[in-house]
Amino acid sequence: MSDEKSITVIKNIGLLLTGRIEAPMADGDCVVCTDGKITAIGYEKDLDTEGASVTVDAKGVTLAPGLIDSHVHPVVGDYTPRQQQLHWIDSTLNGGVTTMISAGEVHMPGRPKDVVGLKAMAIAAQRWYENFRPSGMKVLAGAPVIEHGMEEHDFKELADAGVKYLGEVGLGSVKDGKTANQMVSWARKYGIQSTIHTGGPSIPGSGLIDADMVLETGTDVVGHINGGHSALPDDQIVCLCENCTQGLEIVHNGNERAALLTLNTARELDKLDQVILGTDGPAGSGVQPLGILRMVAMLSSLGNVDAATAFCFANGNTARQRDLDVGLLEVGMSADFVLMDQAQHAPGKDILESVQLGNLPGVGMTIIDGKVTSFRSRNTPPAQRLPEVV
Ligand SMILES: [Zn+2]
Repeated sequence: MSDEKSITVIKNIGLLLTGRIEAPMADGDCVVCTDGKITAIGYEKDLDTEGASVTVDAKGVTLAPGLIDSHVHPVVGDYTPRQQQLHWIDSTLNGGVTTMISAGEVHMPGRPKDVVGLKAMAIAAQRWYENFRPSGMKVLAGAPVIEHGMEEHDFKELADAGVKYLGEVGLGSVKDGKTANQMVSWARKYGIQSTIHTGGPSIPGSGLIDADMVLETGTDVVGHINGGHSALPDDQIVCLCENCTQGLEIVHNGNERAALLTLNTARELDKLDQVILGTDGPAGSGVQPLGILRMVAMLSSLGNVDAATAFCFANGNTARQRDLDVGLLEVGMSADFVLMDQAQHAPGKDILESVQLGNLPGVGMTIIDGKVTSFRSRNTPPAQRLPEVV
């Protein structure tokens, strides 16, 4: 190994989005990354850009922290048995997402439900996605679904082995708030985050989780508050927004009217910083490679949120709620970006107005840990301008 630093310079950026909901845009036209981390943000003329191993000419497009899908159900590699689909993660990278968080590897055929088996699978899933990133995507997986019979030492053992997330509470045999709360508390004690399946049953065999159960369980994230697919009645969604102090997760695979209710309620409560986005894919409605971009455009347009703020739901808010080192344009964070521009022939005076009119942007490049992971998206509408490696 040489001790040469790996430097990536991205210059001629037209607009910097930060992921910080209190200041979603920043001044500057250049970002410098060293060994996979952001080391400088500003104007090229003021920055040290010497010795770059990779230089990207952004050609005036917008740079944002890579998008985060807070709710996916991966199984193994870039294959999902749920809809018999290959390369769904690569397709999602082409939708601007650079980090995915597993809400449980529940589509594994023959998924073990005994305590030893579920722990073994969670640890193995954490390993196989740590060891293999499909197309460069960071897949934070290994999320066990709690089952009756688990004890405190099981959560310690999982945490010691590197497990950081629980799968959705409610997808296993634990359906009562008291037991779920006990297990979520043990998980939290050892540094494992938790989420819950909010709403009606997803597929035959799963069950209803109502607001009382969500509140009693007290997970770190209210998983798909807008249902996956069936949403809770409005008064229960409002109650969750009022009473929960952590992530309010809206998913593509849920009820869109309930998504807007959540957004509007969170805004009234001055809790927009708690709104985070996921797809819940792969699921009954399939894989949604552009799901996060579609949520941003939908919430911005129908929810009347400026687009720069709406992008924060898809990166910085999730990073903060879930304690990640990605998703924010700040020195020291991982150099994970999406470069995008207004789509060709999409109305609007610029990318932000175009998104607020409900249009998707065109993705031109993704970068993960300072390395280019994709070029012009094969999934989004074509962008007006495309960044280039020079
Ligand atoms: Zn669910």
